[in-house]
Amino acid sequence: FENNLRKAEAYLERFKTGGVSNHINGEAMPALDGTTFETISPVDLKPLARVAHGKAADIDMAAKAAKAAFPAWAAQSGDARKKMLHAIADAIVKRAEEIAFVECMDTGQTLKFMAKAALRGAENFRYYADKAPEARDGRTLQAPGQLNITTRVPIGPVGVITPWNTPFMLSTWKIAPALAAGCTIVHKPAEFSPLTARLLVEIAEEAGLPKGVWNLVNGLGEDAGKALTEHPDIKAIGFVGESRTGSMIMRQGADTLKRVHFELGGKNPVIVFADADLERAADAAVFMIYSLNGERCTSSSRLLVEASIHDTFVAMVAEKAKRIHVGHPLDPKTVVGPLIHPVHETKVLSYIELARSEGATVAAGGTKVEGPGGGCYVAPTLFTGARNDMRIAQEEIFGPVLTAIPFETEAEALSIANDTQYGLAGYLWTSDVTRALRFTEGLAAGMIWVNSENVRHLPAPFGGVKNSGIGRDGGDWSFDFYMETKNIAFAT
Ligand code: NAD
Repeated sequence: FENNLRKAEAYLERFKTGGVSNHINGEAMPALDGTTFETISPVDLKPLARVAHGKAADIDMAAKAAKAAFPAWAAQSGDARKKMLHAIADAIVKRAEEIAFVECMDTGQTLKFMAKAALRGAENFRYYADKAPEARDGRTLQAPGQLNITTRVPIGPVGVITPWNTPFMLSTWKIAPALAAGCTIVHKPAEFSPLTARLLVEIAEEAGLPKGVWNLVNGLGEDAGKALTEHPDIKAIGFVGESRTGSMIMRQGADTLKRVHFELGGKNPVIVFADADLERAADAAVFMIYSLNGERCTSSSRLLVEASIHDTFVAMVAEKAKRIHVGHPLDPKTVVGPLIHPVHETKVLSYIELARSEGATVAAGGTKVEGPGGGCYVAPTLFTGARNDMRIAQEEIFGPVLTAIPFETEAEALSIANDTQYGLAGYLWTSDVTRALRFTEGLAAGMIWVNSENVRHLPAPFGGVKNSGIGRDGGDWSFDFYMETKNIAFAT
């Protein structure tokens, strides 16, 4: 642990002294008006760096650079792009430790998970590297006297806007397919955790990515983010963040008819029937809400348990929650680290107060933890005795907080599971295959795991229904977003 702290300090030194710059047309640069904002570490609330505060002028410059670089990048062969993306993946692997340590100190996410997240970022590039040669592939459609050939072409320069939770992994997930498709990009990372986005663009260019293909503008949502969504040269916005921000982006992008892809919030149910493997289900439920500090869009934040096993199962979960080690993100023992920012910590703690006032019971946690550095530590928390109409069961808390609700029948379980504005993910635990088929058919969610925690298969579609999103990532779905389909009909 001591060694980890020393390493982190060394990796962070460059940001402390040099700040976090924007990156436009291959050049690291300050904001055009010279302003900066501060980013702090959630571990000790001390400043990590001054960050370039980009605004509309910086976005304009970046969008123009992306536009200028687009024809040459789009014209590269799929094989050339494949080689380039693999080179980026190799470069990420070489700097995986640095990425993981910086991410931990910037976000409060633990090394236990961020070491894997850095490598997963490389995997995202490898996966889309291998798909790049097939990005333009289309179909042939026959008609009497006519042969139709479809092809796909990259849509143009695109904007990518990412949130503060696991920013490195999420950025790679959005950017790798855009580059594989032949798009150029302007990335606007979240203001709470901007450090690894800076590492990422630098890694890509050191690996040989041409100037202007990937541009980075830091700034706030209401200025840099808004300007990106309104820019006429930007043809599409890939956005990951809150549902209400998605609505704003849709309005902002209306005048320029922006194509949008939204990965938004969730209030995902894990439904446990009495016939499930209860030990496995309890482990998975605990993992899915408390890992990544609960700051995860697919976290299982509502625990729906069949009444006959409710008390036993909830006691198992409470016991496991109490045993979780909360601590410094770089301590190898730590499972739950500090929440991203004091503002977010206050929000999460306010839901604990709310739970009590709504009449739920706090069966585990429910307090702030005095952790190392005095940062934003909150104990893994379990509410029981809740109803689905309570705010703690309806609103995305985005912290290590789980709300348990009993159900009597399968129909009631389904009705509770679907009674939410969200529809991102669902987790079902039962040994009855017929029930699993029936239940998953009725469950309104973009992604459902049966007898499993969230295990991501990159070719499978990722995304939500209702207020959880528009569009799908993964496999070929990402190409559909970043590309236009063109049909050419030949008379025969
Ligand atoms: P957020 O919506 O507050 O911010 C996300 C990004 O949008 C940031 O970069 C922010 O600066 C920018 N932004 C804010 N206002 C903007 C505007 N008017 N125009 C353009 N950009 C703007 O989200 P957050 O708090 O950073 O992240 C947490 C949220 O992200 C949660 O709701 C979580 O569920 C969601 N999320 C979803 C997924 C998914 O795949 N569905 C994955 C991770 C996180």
